[in-house]
Amino acid sequence: MSAPFSLPKLPYADDALAPVISANTIGFHYGKHHNAYVNNLNKLVEGTEYADMSLEDIFQKTFQQPDKVGIFNNAAQVWNHTFYWNSLSPNGGGKPSGKIAELVEKAFGSTDKFLEEFSKAAATQFGSGWAWVVQEGDSISVMKTPNAENPIVHGKKPLLTIDVWEHAYYLDYQNRRPDYIKAVLEKLINWEFANQNLG
Ligand code: MN
Repeated sequence: MSAPFSLPKLPYADDALAPVISANTIGFHYGKHHNAYVNNLNKLVEGTEYADMSLEDIFQKTFQQPDKVGIFNNAAQVWNHTFYWNSLSPNGGGKPSGKIAELVEKAFGSTDKFLEEFSKAAATQFGSGWAWVVQEGDSISVMKTPNAENPIVHGKKPLLTIDVWEHAYYLDYQNRRPDYIKAVLEKLINWEFANQNLG
């Protein structure tokens, strides 16, 4: 039987996000970590009911099930990382435009205030995890999740994410997580992807 899940292609070259995120970091983060989640998941679901499900179905069905923690963690991490690569763009950063710009203005009053709140969520996630922009009805908000959790398991629709696991920034920024967050928001955050995700 062929493995049901594969590593999605990176949406840009491995050096396209440099100097904010180096090709070296991408080499480990995408080439080793993301790839390992895919390989682990394929091993864990082999011969189970999960082998034919989408990633979203797998992580929603296994969330908070003590005997399915491994499957949950790997399925969610495969999905979260693909979402993260798409949340970044070599042409990202700056001010939002389109529908997301209106929602930022409405929910936060200004782009600066939004960036402050999103940065705070990313900086204050204790230990490994993620910061997210989510849509709730006709508004948006920011949230953070630990480890492999994502907004979908909490009934919310993700629009953008920043990975704040140490492996996302340690090679380039060592322990300076706030510097990584600042640089990502200034140079890489993919507002167009947020517009595409709005429903
Ligand atoms: Mn990661």
